[in-house]
Amino acid sequence: LGPNDGILVMSDLTKNFGGITAVDELSFAVQEEEILGFIGPNGAGKSTTFNCISGIYPPSSGNIWYKGENVTDLPPYKMVKRGMARTFQSFRPLEDRTVLQNIALPLVPDKLFSLAGLRGDTIRKAEGVCELVGLDDRMDMTPDELPHAGMLRLELGRALATNPDLLLLDEPFAGLSDPEVDAISDLLKQLRNDAGVTLVVVDHNMRGLFPLIDRAVVIRFGELLAEGTPEEIRSDPMVKEAYLGG
Ligand code: ADP
Ligand code: MG
Repeated sequence: LGPNDGILVMSDLTKNFGGITAVDELSFAVQEEEILGFIGPNGAGKSTTFNCISGIYPPSSGNIWYKGENVTDLPPYKMVKRGMARTFQSFRPLEDRTVLQNIALPLVPDKLFSLAGLRGDTIRKAEGVCELVGLDDRMDMTPDELPHAGMLRLELGRALATNPDLLLLDEPFAGLSDPEVDAISDLLKQLRNDAGVTLVVVDHNMRGLFPLIDRAVVIRFGELLAEGTPEEIRSDPMVKEAYLGG
């Protein structure tokens, strides 16, 4: 795979932690405006892959291209500038700030220190994001007052505030009830259909994930196991075995 095989391309991506190879010569591409499921058993290397793509960990070897440019060793803030955002599996909002302020954080230059001086246009943008993620009636709450589903919406809002072209979502359905999964899923579809955002979604909730995605990439032990449409993935014997045996 090469730089122009998708909006996001990785080739032979490898990440070692001491003796552990968390991601092992992984190659796949994400196409513009697709919703890609990125699945695999616990410990398969999904979050580590996201950490490499978003610049949190430098890869041990391999290449990552985004919008045709080599971004393999760029730090997170440069990836954000280029239009990539991600959510975290376990995230910690600023507990002494409101929902609105937490969402406004990525919009201001000196994040932690300029909150007192949030300007009108920043506030308006953050309010727009709150509305988009369904937190408009909870903007003045502190994060600890939100239910679990609200926290996930807050994390989504924080990522969307940077106006990404590509969004990496790490378990956006974790701990949600079926109706909540459907609501988040509708929001994600809306982001792609109406705003053209490309999405890569990691989740174990297949009931939520399969109707949402166009295609899936399955990994195990950091390696590519299968790639295809939801129907192909669902009937793939190697995928079944990885989940039952892995
Ligand atoms: P997944 O998100 O698919 O469940 P992870 O990417 O979190 O998997 O983990 C893949 C492997 O890498 C696991 O064996 C995990 O223990 C290891 N790992 C992840 N992050 C680190 C780290 N910072 N230091 C050491 N090992 C890590
Ligand atoms: Mg993970």
